[in-house]
Amino acid sequence: MCVFVPIERLVMRLRQPASRAAEVAALRQRLRVERASTVADDERGLAGEVARAKRAAAAAFGEVASCGSCAARQPWPVGGFAGGACCAGATASVFDDHELAALAHAGTRPRDLRPPAGRDAHAGCAFRGAEACSLALEHRPARCVHYVCDTLRVELHRRGRLDEVEAQLAELERAMRAFTAAHRARQDREVLAPVIDAVRAAVRRRSSP
Ligand code: SF4
Repeated sequence: MCVFVPIERLVMRLRQPASRAAEVAALRQRLRVERASTVADDERGLAGEVARAKRAAAAAFGEVASCGSCAARQPWPVGGFAGGACCAGATASVFDDHELAALAHAGTRPRDLRPPAGRDAHAGCAFRGAEACSLALEHRPARCVHYVCDTLRVELHRRGRLDEVEAQLAELERAMRAFTAAHRARQDREVLAPVIDAVRAAVRRRSSP
């Protein structure tokens, strides 16, 4: 681990609840590892497709009102803030390995993963703040754009935007599925490579005089 990681964690702890500081530091470290991995051009291209589809889907949503009050009066952690009920999950689950890899290879850097300013309570995802997500769209996982609850669906329908949003979300799902397949294949190769090397070495040892 680099020496600046504990320092970064210390500085964040002075500004943030300890649980959020720890989760952001762990996520940044996972991102550093992923960014350092060797990735083929096609996988990188698919990560770019996810980023493009995410932008297009977000543009189709436009401004929505549902997300600002959906969590009011719900139990902790969902009701920690008035809005963002769907942001009350655990950070590591929101940023699973595929989502994190898609972000890493579309250009997200550790410093782009900025928690909310101030000492807002830590109520679910580390980037959930009192008013909104603290991340720029391009640094949010695809699932954050893809998820549409019933309340939001009704609002989009009322505004005549549901069909367009669903079409863009289908594109985003297709892009994320293609990226996940490429990423999973790389993970499999990385697991298998040492096994294959070990088998080859054993065969060489056996066949040498
Ligand atoms: S990254 Fe942002 S949008 Fe996604 S779950 Fe966390 S707070 Fe919500």
